[in-house]
Amino acid sequence: MESNRAPEDAEARRAVKPVVCYETDKLPPVDMPLYSRARQKLQLVAEYTAPARDACAFEVPAGHFFRIVSVDGSQVGDLNLWSAGNLQERFFSGKTRQLHATHVSTGDRLWSNLPHLRPLATITHDTLDWYGWDADGAGVHDVIGTRCDPYTNHALRGLDYHHCCHSNLTRALAEYKSISLAEAELHIHDVLNVFMCTGFSLDTHQYFMKASPVRLGDFIEFFAETDLLGALSACPGGDCGSSHSDDATACYPLRVEVYRSSSDELASWKPAEINGYDRTHGTPSKN
Ligand SMILES: [Zn+2]
Repeated sequence: MESNRAPEDAEARRAVKPVVCYETDKLPPVDMPLYSRARQKLQLVAEYTAPARDACAFEVPAGHFFRIVSVDGSQVGDLNLWSAGNLQERFFSGKTRQLHATHVSTGDRLWSNLPHLRPLATITHDTLDWYGWDADGAGVHDVIGTRCDPYTNHALRGLDYHHCCHSNLTRALAEYKSISLAEAELHIHDVLNVFMCTGFSLDTHQYFMKASPVRLGDFIEFFAETDLLGALSACPGGDCGSSHSDDATACYPLRVEVYRSSSDELASWKPAEINGYDRTHGTPSKN
């Protein structure tokens, strides 16, 4: 397709200085020293396993920690989170990306959708934090991709594949909540791609993936800022170094570990509150 002719001042227009969209230093402060003290004394209280090419659902009480652990082989996980008492409140990957970055790590928070917009969880430890940004512009734990799904696969290849993360998460939620697949599917949302190494190509700005640097024993740890329901899929792409949405790649389970802090550091800690906006949207009342 022919593009339009650039104006005379095109270079000057391109050279305008970028401005970071959100002043994240004005967000409610994250008390990392508190979390750091609380996580010194952790007791394992529950364990769940997302089998290879499948998913598990799990609950984490407010004020508890949970970890996603690499236990068998290089494996990427797709994480969904909801407020345990209200499936309408769920992880908001897009706003989390805008507030933090394309990839998240220790100190970043996983925010919920509008009109709730509060931190559902805070990342308190990440054994892959050494990775940073590589020469391809890639990082680990992305909030730029969505979950692999059978609809995109069907559009691209004309095939039905039933173990994409979208389907795995749908089955896990349906079973855990005893609801139909059709109802559960509507609650599945864009994920945190745990351990996944991704970026946008420098030339065409296309979403790419490369083999995850995750090693056995690596984990990402979260603090639950409210009562959480989670679902984790062990992506059929395995380490996502070659393909996904098929059975071609070696695939491994992932473990979810839930911990209670036995220190009294959290005695006066309180769950995150729903966003304070009055929801009138410029009219006299919110109805
Ligand atoms: Zn996937």
